[in-house]
Amino acid sequence: MSEEPSDKAPSLDFIRTIVAEDVANGKNDGRVATRFPPEPNGYLHIGHAKSICLNFGIAAEYGGTCNLRFDDTNPAKEDVEYVDAIKEDVRWLGFDWDDRLYYASDYFEKIYACAVKLIRDGNAYVDSLSAEEIREYRGTLTEPGKNSPHRERSVEENLDMFKRMRAGEFADGTCVLRAKIDMASGNVNLRDPTLYRIRKVAHHRTGDQWSIYPMYDFTHAVSDAFENITHSLCTLEFEDHRPLYNWSVNETGVAFKPRQIEFARLNLSYTILSKRKLLRLVHEGHVSGWNDPRMPTLSGLRRRGYTPKSLRTFCARIGLAKRDSLVDVAQLEHAVREDLNARAPRVMGVLHPLRVVLENYPEGEVDELDAVNNPEDESAGTRKVPFSRVLYIERADFMEDPPKKFFRLAPGREVRLRYAYLITCTDVVKDDAGEIVELRCTYDPETRGGTPPDGRRVRGTLHWVSAEHALDVEVRLYDRLFSREKPDDVEEGQDYIASLNPNSLELLESAKLEPSVAGAAPGTRYQFERQGYFIVDPDASADKLVFNRTVSLKDAWARIAARGSQ
Ligand code: ATP
Ligand code: MG
Repeated sequence: MSEEPSDKAPSLDFIRTIVAEDVANGKNDGRVATRFPPEPNGYLHIGHAKSICLNFGIAAEYGGTCNLRFDDTNPAKEDVEYVDAIKEDVRWLGFDWDDRLYYASDYFEKIYACAVKLIRDGNAYVDSLSAEEIREYRGTLTEPGKNSPHRERSVEENLDMFKRMRAGEFADGTCVLRAKIDMASGNVNLRDPTLYRIRKVAHHRTGDQWSIYPMYDFTHAVSDAFENITHSLCTLEFEDHRPLYNWSVNETGVAFKPRQIEFARLNLSYTILSKRKLLRLVHEGHVSGWNDPRMPTLSGLRRRGYTPKSLRTFCARIGLAKRDSLVDVAQLEHAVREDLNARAPRVMGVLHPLRVVLENYPEGEVDELDAVNNPEDESAGTRKVPFSRVLYIERADFMEDPPKKFFRLAPGREVRLRYAYLITCTDVVKDDAGEIVELRCTYDPETRGGTPPDGRRVRGTLHWVSAEHALDVEVRLYDRLFSREKPDDVEEGQDYIASLNPNSLELLESAKLEPSVAGAAPGTRYQFERQGYFIVDPDASADKLVFNRTVSLKDAWARIAARGSQ
């Protein structure tokens, strides 16, 4: 079997097909310009990675450009902390906006001018209804709305009031600027949507300069136009907003008219992808922060040990659709395993140590054994691993009364220690409580390297660490943050918080590692043989080695994909 079919990226998705046609037809003089437009009200998550890979990816494929634009129109929820984190995350993912970093707030004066033009042309008016009244007047999905009594204000009065809104003469909520479109439209978004609201809140970039702020839909459309964006790619929930997008670029008379195209957002099983909901996890202390390794944020995934390449591969493979679906999180884990398998050096580490004393091994003697650094990469070479009389093995690799299919260590049983010798268990030492504290074993000096000269069969191979040489490290094992496949599918009266997995973090304070790892820099990745891929916590203090498990070795997705291709 070559590659699993489900691992392949579709050759040309529907958006790339449109872009290819536009380029072939010479639309926009063959120019391709996209943008990634985050709102700086939280950290980026893996859903945003899909949008980043798409926007920057398409631009790169056509020799075009992709701008990074902060859609910073809501001063109350936005912060420079988020701006900085977003820039770091986009770069980490492997993309570069060169000198094309923009902020919608830089356009506030131009957007204001667009609004003034709309008023002059009779296409916008200042409404003094309360927020509640505006809601009532809007009608419902089945009933048309009603015109506001202020809808027919004169252009002069509208211009004057809008100017005074800007000057801060009115309190928050007393009036808004609305587009004058159609209160009976079948599309609720066209029932005179709000274009500007009063918000006497300082903005993280413009300070106290403005007391009015433009609404997202309006801002987004004209900002795209200002930047000559050819293809404005956004998620499906904006499909019903497209008529307003088009209205905004048409009626403001901006010189360039971008095209909005919607695609399905990424939904991932056992995962929440909404900044608002993730923010609550942070605020309520369900996680240690935005970069908690259990978070689906790019900063969390980075700290967990995910590689930018694995995220890009994942985004390419899930492809693009026009309908929402749920992607199996196992597919994401598969992508990171695949990348780390190729690049992570192997070492031996014992997570739950059990002491083993080799009774016939001379005290004080040390044997330096050769171990392969990466079987997938010969150039990675070998290293020496010290072997001595007292070792640690994994607790789970020993059973006093093993069931039939248990091929690891048991009383009287012989197993192989990886790269070392065959050992046989001769005795079990317990404490007063009956807990096993030590195994007594013998080793066969004729089996150095792990191969018995008589060819006798030994089924189990265990990893181990020499006690005297072991590094004491802290290891953090992570499980899914949510135990429900769709965390929002909860009983009435509950929300996604009820889906949190109480066992998503297991802290191991005295794991033992082979000494070659000493001094590993934060961010260094390894495979601990038989245990998974680990990274030296990039955000931990330097005095102790702390490892985060990125992912275990068991690949559920490879099994699913293999089944699918049978
Ligand atoms: P959230 O719901 O998490 O707050 P958002 O859409 O409000 O997300 P923005 O900062 O506005 O967050 O998003 C920036 C861009 O990323 C938008 O173009 C948006 O469509 C896209 N995006 C957000 N979430 C996803 C997702 N799950 N899958 C694909 N694209 C997404
Ligand atoms: Mg948004």
